[in-house]
Amino acid sequence: MDFLSQADPEVGASIQKEFDREQHNIELIASENIVSKAVLLAMGTCLTNKYAEGYPGKRYYGGCYAVDVTEELARQRACQLFDCAHANVQPHSGANANLAAFFALLQPGDTVLSMNLAHGGHLSHGSPVNISGKYFRIVPYGVSDDTETIDYEQVMAIAKECRPKLILAGASAYPRTLDFAKFREIADAVGARLMVDMAHIAGLVAAGVHPSPIPYADVVTTTTHKTLRGPRGGMILCNDDDLYKKINSAVFPGTQGGPLEHIIAAKAVCLGEALKPEFRAYGRQVAANAGVLAEKLIEQGFRLVSGGTDNHLILVDTRHFGLTGKEYEHRLDEVGITVNKNTIPNDPEKPFVTSGIRVGTPAVTTRGFREPEMAEIARWMGLMAKEDYADHAEQVRAEVAELCKRFPLYQD
Ligand code: PLP
Repeated sequence: MDFLSQADPEVGASIQKEFDREQHNIELIASENIVSKAVLLAMGTCLTNKYAEGYPGKRYYGGCYAVDVTEELARQRACQLFDCAHANVQPHSGANANLAAFFALLQPGDTVLSMNLAHGGHLSHGSPVNISGKYFRIVPYGVSDDTETIDYEQVMAIAKECRPKLILAGASAYPRTLDFAKFREIADAVGARLMVDMAHIAGLVAAGVHPSPIPYADVVTTTTHKTLRGPRGGMILCNDDDLYKKINSAVFPGTQGGPLEHIIAAKAVCLGEALKPEFRAYGRQVAANAGVLAEKLIEQGFRLVSGGTDNHLILVDTRHFGLTGKEYEHRLDEVGITVNKNTIPNDPEKPFVTSGIRVGTPAVTTRGFREPEMAEIARWMGLMAKEDYADHAEQVRAEVAELCKRFPLYQD
C-alpha cells in the first residue's frame, strides 16, 4: 500500500479508505467476502500484462506458456472441487457467465423460465433492463404467498404452459435450499435444458453444506467472489463434451475478448483453498452463523422471509418496525453495520426503497465471528430498528468498533 500511495496518492488514499471501512465495519452483505492474502496477491501480478485469447494450448498469442499453467490449474481445481468434467474459468463476472451460457444454449427469442427478480432472482436471469430480458422471452416463477418458498408444483404448471427451452434455477436473495432434483424433473417433463446459477451458494456447495447442482444441471454458472471467497469473477461448469465446446465458443469469441489471466490465477488460488478441509469447516460455520443470526433476529421481533434460513443469507422484513429497507440500511450504516436494502416477495415499495434488507454471514465468518458475535449483532440490529434508536446509536457504534478491533483483517 505504501508504494501505491507514493506512486498515486489520490488512488492510494481511496484504497486506504476502503481498507479502513472493511477493517472497522461489520460486513453483512450476503454477496461479499474477504479474500486471502494469496488471492489478493495473485490479482496484483504481471499476469495482467498478458493477452491470451483462446484457451490453454490453443491461443491466438505467443508467450502464453505461463498463463496456460495457471488457467489449467484453475480449470482442473474447479473440476475437482465440484466433481464435474469441464470448467471454463474465463468469464469476467457472474453476469458474463450467464450471458455466455444463454448464448451457448439458446437462440434469440427462445423461452426461458427463471426466478422472478422481485422474489429473489437476478437481473441477468431475464430482467427487461438486462440483455437477457431483451433477447429472450422470459417467463418468471416465484415463491408462494404463504410459505415464501418456491412452489415446485407451480413451477411445473408454468413450465407445462410456456414450454421453455431452458429452466434457470438460482437466486440472489433466496434463503432456502434449492431442490435441484425437482428442477430436473420439471425440465425433463417439458424437454427443457436445466441451468443452475449457484453464484450465491457455490462456497456452500464446495463445502458440502448445500446439495450440488452438478448431477442435475446441464450447465452450472457461478461467481467466484461470494461464498466461494475468491476474486471477483465467474465460471461455467458442465459434464457434456459437446456443450463444453459450445460454452467455450460462447465465452470467447462469443461474448468476451482476452481473459483476465491475473484474475484466473487468483481463481486457481481460491479453488486450491476451497479444496482444503478448512474450507468445509468454513462453509459449515457460515451456515451455523446464519442460523443463529436468524434465530436471534426473530427474538428481536423481526419477521424473516420464509421464517428463517438454510444457507448463508437472511431476508429481513422491516415493516414491523415501520421502516423501509432504505431507512434501515442507512441507520445500520451509521453504526458501522453494512447491509443492503432488498425487495421482499410482493414488496409494495420501489426497488430503491424496499421493505426489507438482506444480510449474510460469509464475510463475518471469514473474519472469525462465531455464534456469540451473531447474538451481539442481532441485539444491535434490534436496538437500531426501534423508535428510540438514536439514544443507542453512540453506544452501538462503540461496541461495533470494539468487536472489529478484536478481529483484525489481514494480520497474519
Ligand atoms: N448470479 C447471481 C445469482 C448473483 O447473485 C449475481 C450477483 O449478485 C450474479 C449472477 C452476477 O454476478 P456479477 O456481479 O459478478 O456479474
